[in-house]
Amino acid sequence: MPLSIAIIGSGPAGFYTADALMRKCPECQIDVIERLPTPYGLIRGGVAPDHQTTKRVAKKYENTALTDHVNFYGNVELNRDVNLHELSQFYDAVVLAVGAPNDKKLTLPGADKSGVFGSAAFVGWYNGHPDFRDLDPDLNSQAAVVIGNGNVAVDVARVLVRSAEGLAKSDVPDHVAERIIASPMTDVYMVGRRGPIDAKFTNVELREIRNLNYTVPMVRADQLPDDIEFAVSQLDARERRLKERNLKTLGEFSRFTGDEKPKRMHFEFFASPVEILGDDQVEGIRLERTRVINGSAEGTGEIFDIKCGLVVAAIGYRSNPVDGAPYDEARGLIPNDNGRVSQGLYAVGWIKRGPSGVISSNRPDGELVADHIHDDFPNTHTGKTGREGLEALLKARRIRWVTFADWQRLEALELENATGPAPRKKFVTIEEMMNALNGKKET
Ligand code: NAP
Repeated sequence: MPLSIAIIGSGPAGFYTADALMRKCPECQIDVIERLPTPYGLIRGGVAPDHQTTKRVAKKYENTALTDHVNFYGNVELNRDVNLHELSQFYDAVVLAVGAPNDKKLTLPGADKSGVFGSAAFVGWYNGHPDFRDLDPDLNSQAAVVIGNGNVAVDVARVLVRSAEGLAKSDVPDHVAERIIASPMTDVYMVGRRGPIDAKFTNVELREIRNLNYTVPMVRADQLPDDIEFAVSQLDARERRLKERNLKTLGEFSRFTGDEKPKRMHFEFFASPVEILGDDQVEGIRLERTRVINGSAEGTGEIFDIKCGLVVAAIGYRSNPVDGAPYDEARGLIPNDNGRVSQGLYAVGWIKRGPSGVISSNRPDGELVADHIHDDFPNTHTGKTGREGLEALLKARRIRWVTFADWQRLEALELENATGPAPRKKFVTIEEMMNALNGKKET
């Protein structure tokens, strides 16, 4: 039998690994196992629905999936349908590409109030991820607060103020678009516990806000450094360039008065959340003004409140431990040596290095692990059964897995069902996906 490799997770990390393996080990058999019936992980469920150009990278993953070496097993969940021990009996190598699907916990008094969401859930909701179909956030308020100064915070803030025309060109599900369009929200506050120079959002994402039809970005000039060159002088060349660009853009934003357009996106720096206010439902957020000393935010004792009916914490993600693999609880990842976990077990993407970086940051992870597998298995033919063993087990357990051809049928329906300029109309529950595949009509 040819060398067989199972990749768990079909997001960018999983597909870059499959692609690298195909090149390094042209004879091997690669199976991508995915818990949802749909492939592509964060490309489908994380990248903002109004960033369709970014989502186009899925075409590359599709090319990989369509090669003879690669099979897709969707709707197959690790530990529910098959476990790591079983997979390691079938496959020579198993690569964990399971990401970091959970929200880093917001540990504040009041964080359990209704109307407080983590970005994994909120982004999943507006992206039509089946896990969050029923999140049902109440957007019936004038203001929202997004905690965090990363690209996810910018995405969430932007989607909340997107116009009907902007949403129509995206692939947000109808129930989400309706909720956003009906919302009376005029002000979204993005709060960062540190300063503008420490913000993690990137410049393209920042500049995009200036081009929104109905929303003007608002920045307090007194929160920006007077001398940009001096402020970035201690940074290395790459960081300096990035920060300089951001500070210049924020400087341009600081000249807006807020009257230019009907909605505002406020950048509130040096503001650390202290408490979520309200009875059962969030009514506001209490913050403490900070100053940044040696890169860390320190409270100044000055407290202020922002009234809002929605809080989204975009403060980062956490992975789940995988039964049968080691786990570093403190760092929230699988301990590994450049992707090698143990004999025959590897990790790539956010489960390997934590939740940071852009989509293409996953490519080197895949290359590295493909090199390891190439080195660790000099014989490209071994005695393991590979996909035969997996399929026999899934059949015995009566699991209806979704093949790549099935996914292509689902995708064709999504494209066919799109209206107006929308690129697709997503299936948003697993049940409706499986019904469509099994030829059942929706009731
Ligand atoms: P991130 O870039 O790490 O940003 C997290 C933000 O949350 C930081 O501003 C952080 O502040 C803040 N934070 C963390 N804990 C906090 C707490 N307890 N209280 C208040 N604030 C807290 O993470 P992300 O935005 O989730 O993005 C994850 C990765 O995906 C990033 O690499 C991002 O660039 C990438 N991404 C890229 C795009 C794009 O390219 N368009 C879009 C989405 C995501 P401190 O800095 O002070 O810790």
